[in-house]
Amino acid sequence: MSGRPESAPVASGAAGGKRFAYAPAPESRAVVRLRPTYGLFVDGEFVEPSSGVHFPTVNPATEETLAHVAEAGAADVERAVAAAARAQRDVWGPMPGSERAKYLFRVARIVQERSRELAVLETLDNGKPIRESRDVDVPLAAAHFFYYAGWADKLEYAGLGPAPRPLGVAGQVVPWNFPLLMAAWKLAPALAAGNTCVLKPAETTPLSALLLAEILQQAELPPGVVNVLTGAGATGAALVAHPGVAKVAFTGSTGVGKSIQSALAGTGKRLTLELGGKAANVVFEDAPLSQAVEGIVNGIFFNQGHVCCAGSRLLVQESVAGPVVEALQRRVETLRLGDPLDKNTDLGAINSPQQLERIRELADSGERDGATRWSPACAIPERGYWFPPTVFTGVSPAQRIAREEIFGPVLSVLTFRTPEEAVAKANNTTYGLSAGVWTEKGSRILWMAKHLRAGVVWANTFNRFDPTSPFGGYRESGFGREGGRHGLEAYLDA
Ligand code: NAD
Repeated sequence: MSGRPESAPVASGAAGGKRFAYAPAPESRAVVRLRPTYGLFVDGEFVEPSSGVHFPTVNPATEETLAHVAEAGAADVERAVAAAARAQRDVWGPMPGSERAKYLFRVARIVQERSRELAVLETLDNGKPIRESRDVDVPLAAAHFFYYAGWADKLEYAGLGPAPRPLGVAGQVVPWNFPLLMAAWKLAPALAAGNTCVLKPAETTPLSALLLAEILQQAELPPGVVNVLTGAGATGAALVAHPGVAKVAFTGSTGVGKSIQSALAGTGKRLTLELGGKAANVVFEDAPLSQAVEGIVNGIFFNQGHVCCAGSRLLVQESVAGPVVEALQRRVETLRLGDPLDKNTDLGAINSPQQLERIRELADSGERDGATRWSPACAIPERGYWFPPTVFTGVSPAQRIAREEIFGPVLSVLTFRTPEEAVAKANNTTYGLSAGVWTEKGSRILWMAKHLRAGVVWANTFNRFDPTSPFGGYRESGFGREGGRHGLEAYLDA
């Protein structure tokens, strides 16, 4: 692996003959004005944390410290929950839904107006390609605010009883893989339903939530309706345990989800958990194979594989396994890994050294367990945290790479002969978040969807998200749904 200048995109792989190189096409970061330090957003204002402690947030593509953000402690959680409770009781709860809607529409429009700034900031703090933050994260975040704004004055028609009531203060904890989008998934339905929120972004990606807080100020959202507390696990734990929090919404790892579930047992708090996954992407021999290959690539390499619903297990019918894997490898050779701000980049940086270590450890276990590892020839930048796109073939269901969530750009390929075997292998997991089916036959799609134990089943596509569509899992992938009418249920008492 050789180093390269930070801004030059890498045309990876040389197999298959001559390819045109791409000229660098870096997005300017001038649109983002970073502050050296950020406070907490409590009761409509940015305030210093009671501890006075700040911690750095780093650009994973360069290891540059972007800013220092405040670490919220118990006293800050107290302040934020009190502000949210006051705002819920006096302002936001009693406000007619049609008025709440106006604020949410305004937030959605400002997110659109400031979309470039949000996209660049998200890419700097997270490491994801600008193409994805610009075309997926930010537009979908705006779409969630637009969608739930539409529900705010129609809650009695949501099928949850004639006069559903908000729950109170929602404590919401989100991970680092889609920081802004996950914040929008949490805030928009909660606010539409008349709840107020205390949001805790992940410690490695706090900046877009803080910019969103600025946007909320710009939208003149009443103070206390949304509060943002930055910090790590201890801050999240203090927030979900606070007695003033009526509803907890958590997206993150299964381990932390379980610990929250046991901490909340017997408290009467409402809880939804969106946890990990190990999705099967099932390709039948009659599938349009070139299209399926695109879907496989999108399924596992989108967002560097830091996707809870990533298609991390490819189940391919034995009769077409050879050609599919060959075509997949040819396609993966064309992926460009490098500067996330370059508009031609397909694979950005791994979000943190801890995550990189976890991916390395699991990929090494795959080799030790006897699977065949393949990555394209691919230059890795000298600084930052990177992992090449990786495909394992000859994987057996007992191996760790077939069972554990890797949360990185690593695909495990297994084969099957019959639809029954495909279902048995796909369901051979402790998770149940998503699955994909590729076939020409509509009847087979319906049969598979009925038998796959996953909250979301995509047919002849993968990783499609829409605010109108409920998303969520069962078993170790969690419970509750976000998105669509179903997403309101978690925030309303019928
Ligand atoms: P994580 O569980 O370590 O952290 C998630 C969030 O929880 C962070 O904000 C973290 O600070 C906070 N946290 C950590 N310990 C806590 C505690 N004891 N109490 C309360 N909060 C705590 O997970 P991660 O590494 O940030 O995210 C990756 C995981 O998230 C993956 O397993 C992935 O599958 C999952 N995820 C799931 C979905 C989904 O919708 N199902 C979406 C995105 C990510």
